[in-house]
Parts: sequence; structure tokens; C-alpha cells
Amino acid sequence: MTTFGPSLPQTATLAPGVRRLLAPNPSMMTGPGTNTYLFGEREIAVVDPGPAMLRHIDAILDYAGAPIRWILVTHTHPDHSPGVALLEERTGAEVLGRPAPEGPHQDASFRPLRILDDGDALVTDEFRLEAVHTPGHASNHLCYRHEPSNWIVTGDHVIDGSTVVIDPPDGNMRDYLASLGKLRDRQPDALLPGHGDRIDDPRRVIDWIIEHRLEREAKVVAALAGNPGLGTGELVAHVYAEVPAALHGLAERSLLAHLEKLAADGRARLESDRWYPR
Ligand SMILES: [Zn+2]
Repeated sequence: MTTFGPSLPQTATLAPGVRRLLAPNPSMMTGPGTNTYLFGEREIAVVDPGPAMLRHIDAILDYAGAPIRWILVTHTHPDHSPGVALLEERTGAEVLGRPAPEGPHQDASFRPLRILDDGDALVTDEFRLEAVHTPGHASNHLCYRHEPSNWIVTGDHVIDGSTVVIDPPDGNMRDYLASLGKLRDRQPDALLPGHGDRIDDPRRVIDWIIEHRLEREAKVVAALAGNPGLGTGELVAHVYAEVPAALHGLAERSLLAHLEKLAADGRARLESDRWYPR
């Protein structure tokens, strides 16, 4: 399911005042690990300090080379935000983002001092980071548009070389596709994903993701038409025939996200835990 590219260097300067530091948490779900981004040269904003790993927090402090004034997060999954508390303790930086919703796989320890809504911006002498609310992978997901680069930090909304998990109920496929359109409309010059390398052709990649999701949706529609009255678990093999059985649990979450989108679009209905085309 995950096909990330070659491993990333631990640190990278991507542009003046735009740096990336890789957290040491590689896995099937995180690829090479979580990307922590540092913006600014005289005063630093850190985006996504990653998991609560002291080794990584030390690395962020070493690499920053200037006071860290702000900590922002894209969303509150366990590989992106639990490091905030440790970094806040060491720096006294202001924490910005959106609180965790209820539910599993959420970092309830995340407590932003400033809650960011769509369009809110952190403006400093050196740069501007504008929050773009992009629900879909997570309901509280924010991307951040950086100026002057016109690059967008995309967290887990768009990652390099793989598709992201949409896990209902906090994950929502309809929102996810709408948020992709929103991101494309901003016409970024590059994307800085939460996992993997910088994406230099955002439009092509975003269009590919939308196309890929809609192709899968078409398979769901065909499976429903050919096999009305199956439960979500029974439909997995019809829709994800090419996916190894070991990954069917994950695939079932994505399938549910597609089915809920189709139901919201008026193209499927659920009756006594069985799905039917409408
Ligand atoms: Zn995530």
C-alpha cells in the first residue's frame, strides 16, 4: 500500500528560511518518518514536531540555531503532534492549531493557545504562514501556505508517493476531495508533505490523487451494482481485489469512506448494515 521513494536525508534546507528535519519514526504508515518543518532564520516557527521522542526534540532544538517562537501542527494524529508539549516546555513557544476531536488515534494532549480557523495567519518579520482548513484525512487538518515561497505544508492531506488513509468517522472522503480542490485553487508552487520529499508539480499530483480516488469510487459503484446487499467487510474483496488480504482491514476503512461519500451523494444506501445502490 505504501510505496515511498528513496529515504530522505535527516536535514534539508529547501529554500532560505525553509528547512526540513526528519523524525526517526519510519514505518509502513509513516514512510521515511514524519517531516518537521522549520521556517525563519532569526525567529523560528516549527510545524509538526512529530511524536514525543526526546531524541527528535533535541534534534529540532540543535538544528533551529535561533529561538523557536511558534509551534504549529497540521493535525493531531500520533505521528504529528505529541512532541508539542516537550518542545513547548523547552522553548516557551506559542502553540497554534486546532484541538483534537474525540475518537481513537487522536493526541488529546494537544492544547493550542491560538486556535486557527481557515485563513488565519501567523505573520512575522520574515514570513507568513496562512492556515488552510483541509478536513478529510482528519477533521481538524490544516495545511499552511508559506510566503514568500508560495509553498504549502500539506501534513497528511497530500504525502509523497502514497495515498493517505481516510478512516471514518473523523476521516471523510467527500471532505477530502473538496479539500484537494481547495488546495489546487491556491495554485501553490510546491507542496511540503508530512511524509516524503517536496512535491514540485502540485497540480499534476493533486489531479492524480483526485482521479485515483474517483477510479476507486467507480469500482465501488460497480461492486454495489453487481452485489447488492453485502456488508462493508464482504465488499472489500470486490473493490480491492489487487490489495493483499493482510491489508484488507485498512482497505475496509477506505471502502467505508467511499460508501459514506456515495450515500451523502445520494448514490448508495445502507439498510440493516447492508449496502445497496440507490
Ligand atoms: Zn494523519
